[in-house]
Amino acid sequence: MSEDSIVRPPAAIAAPKIGFVSLGCPKALTDSELILTRLSAEGYATSKTFAGADLVIVNTCGFIDDAVKESLDTIGEALAANGKVIVTGCLGAKAGEGGGNFVRQMHPSVLAVTGPHATDEVMDTVHAHVPKPHDPFVDLVPAPRASIGIKLTPKHYAYLKISEGCNHRCTFCIIPSLRGDLVSRPIGDVLSEAAALFESGVRELLVISQDTSAYGVDVRYRTGFWNGRPVKTQLLELCERLAEIAKPFGAWVRLHYVYPYPHVDAVLPLMATGAILPYLDVPFQHSHPDVLRRMKRPASGEKNLERLARWREICPELVVRSTFIAGFPGESEAEFEDLLGFLREAKIDRAGCFAYSPVEGAVANALPGMLPAEVREARKARFMAVAEGVSAAKLERRVGATMQVLVDSAPALGRRGGVGRSYADAPEIDGRVRLLPPEKASRTLRAGEFTRAKIIAADGHDLIGVPI
Ligand code: SF4
Repeated sequence: MSEDSIVRPPAAIAAPKIGFVSLGCPKALTDSELILTRLSAEGYATSKTFAGADLVIVNTCGFIDDAVKESLDTIGEALAANGKVIVTGCLGAKAGEGGGNFVRQMHPSVLAVTGPHATDEVMDTVHAHVPKPHDPFVDLVPAPRASIGIKLTPKHYAYLKISEGCNHRCTFCIIPSLRGDLVSRPIGDVLSEAAALFESGVRELLVISQDTSAYGVDVRYRTGFWNGRPVKTQLLELCERLAEIAKPFGAWVRLHYVYPYPHVDAVLPLMATGAILPYLDVPFQHSHPDVLRRMKRPASGEKNLERLARWREICPELVVRSTFIAGFPGESEAEFEDLLGFLREAKIDRAGCFAYSPVEGAVANALPGMLPAEVREARKARFMAVAEGVSAAKLERRVGATMQVLVDSAPALGRRGGVGRSYADAPEIDGRVRLLPPEKASRTLRAGEFTRAKIIAADGHDLIGVPI
């Protein structure tokens, strides 16, 4: 064979490196996953340090003041260490003084600023500053299916974003001005992504959006197609199909950000059979109708205690997580007491509470009756004391039960135990099941696998169990 006829691979050229920081909520995390998937598909590598990168992307959060500060500090650090920084995410959409861009006003030397959900714009800016690596082999490979991308969560769970934006106008929130009105993803795309995630090893799918119960409203519940079958872009059909796709994998489907609308009742029978986890994350924010009206909350006219009672009648195992705001402008002591009463009566399993804090640009800032910070903080503390009592009593009732647990981590094959979660615990925000060494010495535990565990104690927000 002559020297000329030998096909040689091209000399290896180091791939350009991109530093990436993802801040904010799970919805921002899914935006980060899309950008990282595109970068990887185009041959870019990632850098663990700002200094070692050719360019840094910061996906920001702009929801509350602490998040804004964290985002601005991170951009500042990236600029100091690297100099080439692209900013994306919610804070990127925030208007600054005189109508200019807030991030640009704070950090004029950033290369570009985009709002959330702007993968194409971010990639265009990356290409302009760090040209796309040319790899004759990679370039011949078709682009990966959008449904199988890079995940920033552990292998065994994933967030599935079903829509962008929000049609509501809660007075304390600026998300609609950052993310726009509701845009539901086509149901066929959502279901294909779910199937691909389960096939890749995901055992828990967390459905997220700004308002999961509103899925499909913007497209009038249009009929889409999945696997050749018609499916409506609508919450119940979404849940039915997700349950069907999850079943062969024995996987969990968990719903977040669901508002207490009457049509949600139809999903409860699926929870009662375990097809969808009997867990609902319902951000009530308050109980008193006047406060809810001042907040302009969705479903504020609903009788939430009655709705919860009906849900629990259909599905007694239902676990409800919620978030609340204490000390909203004009909240009277009587209105706050109403909230504490609701918490006790509704028996919310997992309740989080924020002391009201004005978000720049929110309508609520102009409402009369802003309470002093000490009052807001004191009410939050009173709320949390009641919430913890309710939650502890509910956890105590689990002692003696056997629960299915998804193992999150188990060093040394779990012989010395590990950490997992039951259906009652979403990752990051709820409690955990602390697993002791398995009863049988031969039993192993691996992250991402299910085990059954006998609950022997409750401790704070957590349960303690022995794998069986
Ligand atoms: S429902 Fe209200 S709080 Fe939630 S994103 Fe929409 S406007 Fe904001």
